[in-house]
Amino acid sequence: MSILDNAPVTPANEDDAAIEALHAAFAVQKAAFDVDRSPPIEVRRERLQILMGMMTSNRERIARAVADDFGAHPAGQSDLIEVLGVIGRAAHVLENLEAWMRPDPRHIDSAVFGSARAEMRLQPKGVIGNMVPWNFPFDLSVGPMVEMLAAGNRVIVKPSEYTPACADLLAEMVAATFDPDLVTVAVGGLELARAFSSVAWDHLLYTGSPGVGRQVMAAAAANLTPVTLELGGKCPAILTPGSVTARNIESVIGTKIIKNGQMCVSVDYALVPRAEMEAFVDGARAFMAGASPDYSRSDDCTGVVSERHLARLSDMLGEARGRQVRVVSLDGRDDVDPETRRMPISLVVDPPADLRVMREEIFGPILPVVPYDDLEAAVAGINAGDRPLGLYVFGDDEAVTDRVLDATHSGGAAVNTCAVQSSLPSMGFGGSGMSGMGRHHGMEGFREFSNQRGLVVRGQGDMIDAFYSSAKGSAVADAALAHG
Ligand code: NAD
Repeated sequence: MSILDNAPVTPANEDDAAIEALHAAFAVQKAAFDVDRSPPIEVRRERLQILMGMMTSNRERIARAVADDFGAHPAGQSDLIEVLGVIGRAAHVLENLEAWMRPDPRHIDSAVFGSARAEMRLQPKGVIGNMVPWNFPFDLSVGPMVEMLAAGNRVIVKPSEYTPACADLLAEMVAATFDPDLVTVAVGGLELARAFSSVAWDHLLYTGSPGVGRQVMAAAAANLTPVTLELGGKCPAILTPGSVTARNIESVIGTKIIKNGQMCVSVDYALVPRAEMEAFVDGARAFMAGASPDYSRSDDCTGVVSERHLARLSDMLGEARGRQVRVVSLDGRDDVDPETRRMPISLVVDPPADLRVMREEIFGPILPVVPYDDLEAAVAGINAGDRPLGLYVFGDDEAVTDRVLDATHSGGAAVNTCAVQSSLPSMGFGGSGMSGMGRHHGMEGFREFSNQRGLVVRGQGDMIDAFYSSAKGSAVADAALAHG
């Protein structure tokens, strides 16, 4: 199951045309790759520079399209994440590409292989598909494209049906910038999405929910297509005893403000020492009163992406209230702005474990505040669930924060801050277990989208023929063992 498995309906005949176009685009890219299997570094650099120019020159249109799709969206966040984030990523790759492309020499035993040499050589995989969710329409489409192109691949992107303005703009930008045999965009609905995951890609990147990820991986398995799955889950923030400070509360609630919680690495719930729970609630209120007093009516607030997503979040809060669980709005108001779907941030204080907010990924402006009496038990509670994409631990005692890190698993983690691990161009990003597999960003992304080819070049004076004859092989093995 997806966070919402009821996507907007696209007429079947429109998707039929989009599916046909997808298969044609794939064939064109495959043919182009066949005659250009190893683009030189100058060509790859030029492609990245063109990509950077495309993002810079469309900066304002990107902010407008994101705001259109979300109802409301802070322009500063669009700039920082969707535009500058991608450009920074490309700049980092440009700086390091030469080193990353260099063959990596490996040890080869000269007693057996003489003067042969061995090295790992990275080569492009071919044509890569990228399936994108709605929450970061440019960061998650053009961002991974950076490492895909750097590694010498060709790319087809499929944006989410929930962000039609962004999908159309991306298709237009890409068509105006790249030849379709290098990069193109496939726009359509759910049927196109299903067809997309069945194409015999040389690699497929999927970002979205674990439930749909499972279906995508099953479709890719039919072609033995290698997949990178960037999934979601419940990312905890663990405030160790004594760490409920204004600065740390600001970090947790401030992270929730980004996209109004519609972010895979957002804090899903906060684990707080029981004795400090009220201080956390008071601190969260005080922070919002100072930082954004009329938050859900202000320019700081992102709209919930669709009425359906809004209904899901409202139902979660309704269930908590219905069960007499304390719900604290950090806005001083509970109502959603109906025009733009801007929703206040709410704390759900001390929720029972069977509430939906504790069972499902929230992906919106709701934060369960879960008290604990014993840190080890709180860690055991995290480990009883699926491995999260991000895990955040707060505290000044490094022995304690390291103990939490060592005792848990997650795709990425941060100490005394949240989500920053996902934003660094220099660091691989991805999940573990149910939060995904594989990495993009930086060198790890470059390697992910490359075929890592082990190469041996034979020299002189080797004993390779010992492997071909049993008698000679045994004599060589005896001599080697006697030698120690
Ligand atoms: P989703 O899984 O519903 O949809 C993502 C994409 O999958 C869309 O492009 C959609 O068209 C396609 N899709 C939907 N149903 C499909 C099917 N049956 N077969 C093939 N494709 C299908 O995810 P979403 O609701 O758009 O995004 C929210 C989820 O994404 C959350 O779980 C969130 O944590 C996760 N996410 C993860 C990351 C990450 O980097 N790990 C980033 C953003 C979002």
